[in-house]
Amino acid sequence: MLAVAVAVPAVRHVLDERERAAHEAAVARTIAAEVDKRTTHEQTVVRTSRGMSQAGRAVADRMLILSSCASTGAQPSGPNGRLPSSALCTVPPSSVQLRADAAEAWASLQEAFKEALGRYPCVNNGYRSYAQQAKMHAGNPGMVAPPGTSNHGLGLALDLCTNSDGRAGTSAWAWMDAHASDYGWDIPYWARPGGSRPEPWHWEYVASGDRVS
Ligand SMILES: [Zn+2]
Repeated sequence: MLAVAVAVPAVRHVLDERERAAHEAAVARTIAAEVDKRTTHEQTVVRTSRGMSQAGRAVADRMLILSSCASTGAQPSGPNGRLPSSALCTVPPSSVQLRADAAEAWASLQEAFKEALGRYPCVNNGYRSYAQQAKMHAGNPGMVAPPGTSNHGLGLALDLCTNSDGRAGTSAWAWMDAHASDYGWDIPYWARPGGSRPEPWHWEYVASGDRVS
């Protein structure tokens, strides 16, 4: 009897432990599923972009789009607004500059855009030096980020023309909204129509983990 009396609580204790472990495992699975759900979009963008970056370079090389691009850099090579010109690539037909990986992705994006709409997107702004950002911020502090804090200073943001393709409701904007993320580009929530600071022309190379938010 003594053996049973001692064994019963021990069995209960083991069962309690198992139940607690099972419950904790279930909670962990729920949390993991939620995290997965939230990151799936971003992971898809990153995966797609890695593939597209190589394809983008191939397309760009074939069409001599990035003929001036000697850099293959996908890392920050200087502080915000102070990137060396060797880290930047011009993406014709516009004269804006972007960091090499963003430039390759943009080059392939704009080829797809052209295939769909018959022309390249109208582009207004890409990389901005610290001094350029400071000047723009001084002129419009409510709308333009302070120098040192913008993704333009990292070569990872690009503005479409504010009065044409950068306007929500145009066919160009609708195409961007539907397809840009296939090329690693997207518009941040705050910049979307209805966002906290709508700038529908402002797109960022989200596939890079180096963005400032
Ligand atoms: Zn912008």
